[in-house]
Amino acid sequence: MKTFLRLTGLTRPFAWWMLLAALIGFAAIGSSIGLLMTSAWLISRASLLPPASALKFGIVGVRVFGGARGLLRYAERLISHNTTFRILTRLRLWFYDALEPLAPARLASFRSADLLKRITDDIQSLENIYSRVLAPPITAMLVTALVWAIVGTWSLNAAVGVLFCQLMAGILVPFITVKAAQGTAKGIMQQQAEQQLLAVDMVQGLGELHVFGMLENHLQRMHEAEEKKLALEKKSAFFEGLHESLSGLAMNAAVIWVLWSMLPMIKTGMVSSITLTAIIFGVIASFEAFLPLTGAMQHMEADIRAGDRLFEIIDAEPEVKAPQHPEPLPVHHDIVVKALCFTYPGSTIPAIDGVSFSVPQGGRTAIVGPSGAGKSTITSLLVRFWNPSAGSISIGGRDMASLDPEGVRRGIAVVSQRTYLFGQTVRENLLLAAPGADDKTLKAALSAAGLESLHDRLDDWAGQYGMNLSGGERQRLAIARMILQDAPVIVLDEATANLDAVNEQAVLDTIDRVSAGKTLIAITHRLQRMERFNQIIVLNKGVVVEEGGHEDLLRLNGFYAGMWRLQHETML
Ligand code: ADP
Repeated sequence: MKTFLRLTGLTRPFAWWMLLAALIGFAAIGSSIGLLMTSAWLISRASLLPPASALKFGIVGVRVFGGARGLLRYAERLISHNTTFRILTRLRLWFYDALEPLAPARLASFRSADLLKRITDDIQSLENIYSRVLAPPITAMLVTALVWAIVGTWSLNAAVGVLFCQLMAGILVPFITVKAAQGTAKGIMQQQAEQQLLAVDMVQGLGELHVFGMLENHLQRMHEAEEKKLALEKKSAFFEGLHESLSGLAMNAAVIWVLWSMLPMIKTGMVSSITLTAIIFGVIASFEAFLPLTGAMQHMEADIRAGDRLFEIIDAEPEVKAPQHPEPLPVHHDIVVKALCFTYPGSTIPAIDGVSFSVPQGGRTAIVGPSGAGKSTITSLLVRFWNPSAGSISIGGRDMASLDPEGVRRGIAVVSQRTYLFGQTVRENLLLAAPGADDKTLKAALSAAGLESLHDRLDDWAGQYGMNLSGGERQRLAIARMILQDAPVIVLDEATANLDAVNEQAVLDTIDRVSAGKTLIAITHRLQRMERFNQIIVLNKGVVVEEGGHEDLLRLNGFYAGMWRLQHETML
């Protein structure tokens, strides 16, 4: 219930629109009731062959209610759809706003498919919250009051009976059918997911299925999944039928009740048979308002599930929060790392444990070590994806914790091993680093990154994950982005690890050229052209084991020299 109240709270800015749509919806059903009542009155009255003038009231009523019903239904749909889409926009923005500060630390525990489902399906399913969950009960209550007023004017006894049947149709029938069909709807969804999975597997693994002769087997599994889904759908259709017949039963019970309690009134002359006919038709028409209530209950359950999944993310505290009064960003960019420790959540072994080093402005530092030594963790802490467990990083003499994380990130350009390129044009991928940059600037950056070949391809689609570009081009595009970002600090995290030897040398040359004069931190497990660095920090198992210049470290004949020999002997 708490989730539901929170969800309705999110729609509060649209409360007046929602109320207006519900009122118009009520007026539309009211017109249906009026139409049926006046039609019934007109037909029964006409059968007595009165003078035409006696039918005037009925004829006008049928015209007015008939016309109004269509117009009101249209207006209600227009306003409620408009409100629904506005609610959806608000929910999306609200969710993205809450999601962004959580990346990447807090989102690491969610699988990307799961996150995608929450962003798309769960928010989409909340679009029903107004039109299918909140509005129908309001309309049904107003219709109940209207029918009470109409029937109650003639007979309180009949009105109580109708109310009882309406409560049956509005509460008991939805409750029974929703409870009975509960497992079925979930089962259908699971079977659909299973079918999707099998279909994707089949398309992507068609080659393997052929080679291993398993295609028949796979098709059989798809067939079985389809059969299971069909069986569940049959069951669901049965419950739908049950709902309709129980609603019909409640409606007919109301009609019988009204007849039973009001027929004697005809004898006493308290009510005419024509009026009774009109009342009966009014009661029948009123049940239109109760049909959507089962859907409302089902959608409410689905919305609560979706809401729970969204709130689980929204309620997560961001790992790194901007300080309330951040210090101004520093002018100098010397970096001092002091006794830095970090342990990943859920792990007991620290990824880095008491690391200290400093990089003067314009200095070039390499952090080297075998895989798992903790090198990338240092990058994540530098760009403030995580907060250190202990120790500090300062930039230009200011502790990073006192600075705005966004500002810190703008001042540090990172080129990593896997450059993510969006499935957009080359231009859009570049503009990410410098929104609003003109073509001249983009082309200059491409040239500096050794990518003149892309000058005429700015509007070409980079492909999914940049697949239309070669590995070397992708990495150079990342360098072009780095140039465009024009940050005073550059961090290269295994930036050339995925390239072949020739490309690696060329990209390293480019990096050297474009990083001149900037503070450079290069993280690598491959010891290439190490003499370029003023200092090398050697990490192993999260601690600094050696530090110094390349020649000094070789002379020391320790861990670094061992790595160097191993790599260079292997390469020979
Ligand atoms: P390197 O970059 O030197 O290969 P990392 O900094 O990636 O090393 O990893 C250091 C240690 O932290 C490793 O033992 C690794 O298994 C662990 N680690 C890295 N990322 C995570 C994570 N997201 N969650 C838990 N442990 C992690």
